[in-house]
Amino acid sequence: MKKYDYLIVGAGLYGAVFAQEAARAGKKCLVIEKRNHIAGNIYTYNCEGINVHQYGAHIFHTNNKEVWDYVNQFAVFNRYTNSPVANYNGEIYNLPFNMNTFNKMWGVITPQEAAEKIEQQRKEAGITEPQNLEEQAISLVGTDIYEKLIKGYTAKQWGRDCKDLPAFIIKRLPVRFTYDNNYFNALYQGIPVGGYTKMVENMFGDTEIMLGTDYLADKEKYDAMADKIVYTGPVDAYFDYKLGTLQYRSVRFETELLDMENYQGNAVVNYTDYETPYTRIIEHKHFEFGTQPKTVISREYSAEWQQGDEPYYPVNNDQNNALYEKYKALATEEENVIFGGRLGEYKYYDMDKVIEVALQVAAAELK
Ligand code: FAD
Ligand code: UDP
Repeated sequence: MKKYDYLIVGAGLYGAVFAQEAARAGKKCLVIEKRNHIAGNIYTYNCEGINVHQYGAHIFHTNNKEVWDYVNQFAVFNRYTNSPVANYNGEIYNLPFNMNTFNKMWGVITPQEAAEKIEQQRKEAGITEPQNLEEQAISLVGTDIYEKLIKGYTAKQWGRDCKDLPAFIIKRLPVRFTYDNNYFNALYQGIPVGGYTKMVENMFGDTEIMLGTDYLADKEKYDAMADKIVYTGPVDAYFDYKLGTLQYRSVRFETELLDMENYQGNAVVNYTDYETPYTRIIEHKHFEFGTQPKTVISREYSAEWQQGDEPYYPVNNDQNNALYEKYKALATEEENVIFGGRLGEYKYYDMDKVIEVALQVAAAELK
């Protein structure tokens, strides 16, 4: 008899959902987490009364009512709606691409005028079937917006030319012919009052958690402790990179406490020219309508991931997806291990999708 039913590797959102469901099913779990805190990349900490998103801005949004009801058991969500602005060499545009953006770019007033302008630019570029991010972007919003708001930002974000990136990445953003700056097409949206860490803490409840513990550093010892493993770390690291290394993008966050009330007037400002070395500046207090006398900002510098860095974004191009499929075949052979989450499944998952998948997997596993 092993001491635990499940050993959960990683105290992020996937691990927290699984732990919550397992506890409800009467199972005994141990969570081990490499970092010295819970909540994975959605970790927030308090600085001068402001909840700081240590690993980048996180806005909860979903169209899935089941997921929305689920998270609302663990936190109260505020009414924050994400409406980033883009700064292109000092010119300010609204995001996502909507009538406010089109008006500022071209002076067009009606949706029809905007659609005609885009169609004209798409035709001039000669695109019929978009094959990559550049062609997809131009066919959705035209050349001017591509040049000013997409090309430089994407090159910085991914360290790759837009021609070498999959089209789906740009399809994450809505294109709207209404004057609506809501970044997401989601029925439900908000930020957990009091921060994400508190929410994840509530999900873990009484589950035992060991922080500062790397599963892969002593895998055999930990495997002996539980009947099954739920692994939410990078899938290639689990197999000691034996088939090669999957590519990730990493981010360096430069965070500053400023002695002023309001630095940029918005939670998220994207710097879309190529020359500005960071991709965006986050002003954390605005996620919760903060009125503190000070403010905290984070500049995000995107970088290619190297061993030892935090892997944030899977680079889901054909080459990496093909390698992932090979790792997935190996993962399927590991009978007592469930691979889950953004790193375990090498997928560009948002939080709501992570919860949806974790709930499905837990339901099948614990039935
Ligand atoms: P993680 O949060 O990465 O958790 C995995 C955990 O496993 C980590 O804590 C890690 O330390 C631990 N671990 C790894 N290896 C080991 C090991 N060997 N031993 C022990 N522990 C280990 N989603 C949204 O819905 N809205 C947003 O606005 C949004 N913004 C984002 C911004 C950025 C910059 C990034 C990177 C992501 C963003 N996301 C957003 C996505 C969101 O962060 C993820 O969907 C979610 O955090 C994934 O949860 P997870 O549990 O799969 O992974
Ligand atoms: N993007 C862009 N300009 C912007 C914002 C986004 O070109 O001002 C592109 C960029 O390629 C980015 C993708 O749209 O990777 C998806 O943006 P999103 O905000 O969803 O990225 P994330 O929140 O995951 O960093």
